[in-house]
Amino acid sequence: MGDAENLWTRDPRTVLRAGPDLDLSALDRHGRPGWAGGKDEAKAFTARRGRLLSELQERLFAHGRTGGDRAVLLVVQGLDTAGKGGIVRHVIGMVDPQGVALRAFGVPTEEERQHHFLWRVRRALPRPGLIGVFDRSHYEDVLVPRVQGLVEEDVLTRRFDEINHFEEEIAASGTTVVKVALMVSYEEQGLRLMERLDRPDKHWKFDPGDVDTRRSWDAYQSAYADVLARTSTGVAPWYVVPADRKWYARLAVTELLTRTLVDLDLHWPGVSWDVAEQRRRLAATMSEESLREAASGVEDRAAEYRESEAAYAAAVADASSTESRRGG
Ligand code: AMP
Ligand code: MG
Repeated sequence: MGDAENLWTRDPRTVLRAGPDLDLSALDRHGRPGWAGGKDEAKAFTARRGRLLSELQERLFAHGRTGGDRAVLLVVQGLDTAGKGGIVRHVIGMVDPQGVALRAFGVPTEEERQHHFLWRVRRALPRPGLIGVFDRSHYEDVLVPRVQGLVEEDVLTRRFDEINHFEEEIAASGTTVVKVALMVSYEEQGLRLMERLDRPDKHWKFDPGDVDTRRSWDAYQSAYADVLARTSTGVAPWYVVPADRKWYARLAVTELLTRTLVDLDLHWPGVSWDVAEQRRRLAATMSEESLREAASGVEDRAAEYRESEAAYAAAVADASSTESRRGG
């Protein structure tokens, strides 16, 4: 599937995973952990992986359409300008929108505030066969009110427990949860916000409140550190993605998602009806001329199918083997 070189030297699921010894304040937000190339190589490789991601998504969709219970949920968190929208546009944008359940979470509405904080989140979960994408999520409920001093420690602790339990439940129901925290630096955020002010066509993205949020930078950083420490679990790990270089963040999330889908080991579903019998029934409705035309393409279609399966198998192998191929 394409020529762009695979320059991953480590599996990003290993290098980016938030472990117990993560020191968020020491994270190089301009870094490109695990990737040995630069921007051009990354863009070319992201596009190449996109073709695999797209086929994986179609297989997941087919699985869901035929009674399977698997789904994937990508949770995208990050402060203003971290690049959440860019992930949706450039990574999720590479797959068929019919297979995606996208939900952006803003300040809770009047109705949402009358329910438990997970109410609106449960309603947005992907059905089997879909890739759910959360642009912000239930994590806002342990970030914003905390920084604003609106919740006591015991409420916060209860919410963390509820979130971990909720995600365990989601995982047990067949949904693989992938959480990415896009980490932009203070300097870069300032530049990106200023750019929004410089360009009238970006004004709509700016909210005067973004500056207030920025002024609470340190409080948000420690709130994020706490989130990562308390909710990066075996069934729902956090991946911490340096986001000062947009191309790296997009490359990394593409790879995390692709490898997650590869691990689902999805096959084209079998069918309960008999192909030969349906072929006979259909043929009975067609003209001699059409039947001759259809028959003339049989070999080509068989070859196309074989080639496509071989290309898929090769791409899957490439997305599975970084750690061993390059010796970690
Ligand atoms: P944006 O993602 O730029 O459209 O902004 C959405 C805004 O909604 C951000 O300022 C979020 O912090 C805020 N938000 C989202 N969820 C919550 C929540 N549960 N509680 C408070 N604020 C929230
Ligand atoms: Mg915003």
